[in-house]
Amino acid sequence: RGRGSDAGRPRRRRCSGGRRRRGCCRGRVQGLTNFSEVLVETDTFDVSVSAEEKEEMPQIWNFSAGPGMLPRPVLEAVQREFLDYRGLGASIVEMSHRTHAVEAIVESLTDGLRGLLAIPEDFEIFFTQGGGRTQFAMVPANLLRGKTGAYLVTGLWSAAALEEARRIGRAEAVVRTEGDVPDATECDWPDAAAYVYYCDNETVHGVEFSAPPMAPEGVPLVADMSSNFLTRPIDWSRHGVVWAAAQKNFAPAGLTVVIARRDLLGGLLAHMPSMFDWALYAREKSMPNTPPVFQLYIADLVAKWVRSEGGVEEMHRRALERSSLLYEALDARPDLYVTNVARRARSRVNVPFALRNPDDLADFIAAGEREGFRQFTGHASVGGLRVSLYNAMPLEGPRRFAEFLRARRP
Ligand code: PMP
Repeated sequence: RGRGSDAGRPRRRRCSGGRRRRGCCRGRVQGLTNFSEVLVETDTFDVSVSAEEKEEMPQIWNFSAGPGMLPRPVLEAVQREFLDYRGLGASIVEMSHRTHAVEAIVESLTDGLRGLLAIPEDFEIFFTQGGGRTQFAMVPANLLRGKTGAYLVTGLWSAAALEEARRIGRAEAVVRTEGDVPDATECDWPDAAAYVYYCDNETVHGVEFSAPPMAPEGVPLVADMSSNFLTRPIDWSRHGVVWAAAQKNFAPAGLTVVIARRDLLGGLLAHMPSMFDWALYAREKSMPNTPPVFQLYIADLVAKWVRSEGGVEEMHRRALERSSLLYEALDARPDLYVTNVARRARSRVNVPFALRNPDDLADFIAAGEREGFRQFTGHASVGGLRVSLYNAMPLEGPRRFAEFLRARRP
């Protein structure tokens, strides 16, 4: 598609006059490129792209860590029915959440997830707003009950969750690891643990558990699966609560799914806002107030897409295949690349690495952009590079990136 003489050259759309105008923004990631140099008009109403311009567009490989790629067929379906949702004569974003149409979406999504992930009947599935960071607070608000939250800190997001829990009650790190996951023997459990919390996949550091960690007998395990939700089956016998912010793999930002064992609901601390109460969302079928209807609608389509592609086992197989291509290419050139994550903890969806010679970074990024790669710089807190490979990424993306890695010269 559009790979003529301009093959691989990123297309530049500039504000008229090449000058920065009010409402324009320059896409910058930690001061480096990646969608940079592209001035995006944000003050225009007409956003159409001509057929000619489209023809010039190179194939883009979007390695964003989040919001991340969504399946193309889902976006096309959304586009097709955006103006007229299934013959009702209105867009889905114009419909009351009290209509049968919206209730049906939530029901279909809930049932779809239950089927895809084999979620047992004693778990409630509900959807909240406020993103991942709001769950950092809702977890302790619902589960602490005067005890201590025990946190396995394996990277930025579990550390942030611990900090947030401390605003609400007693919480402590039972272990801290860097570039690895802990063994149960390394953990120093508190006497009265309310729950054990871990982040199944640390999006920034690329650290992923290959199996759920151990928790003391009878203490519920709580998992943040924001960046690897729907990429593999979940062992429910080991978990009390699994939650995921949607924007990596599942839907646009603004939606969070919580899957909680029913007996763990109902313990909201007295001084917490009622909108923090998991039990309220379960009781009101995710609609204690106006839910993010558009996000729920897309999530439902994504769940259907995952099923049509073979389910979460197939997503797991693909995730392994995609990430292995990159890890093999990185391992093949230790003279060029540095990876800091222990092999057993390497993430299947976020592959962070650095250049042996950091002075090459700008050149590396510019060369990658010429190949059509986008959004592959590391998180601002760690720098370097990071390639994210969510369910919607075709195998061709990491295959090309691996070729690119192998072709670089010192
Ligand atoms: N947990 C993980 C694993 C994440 O990757 C992120 C964000 N990228 C969050 C939590 C925080 O999510 P949010 O930005 O929706 O608050």
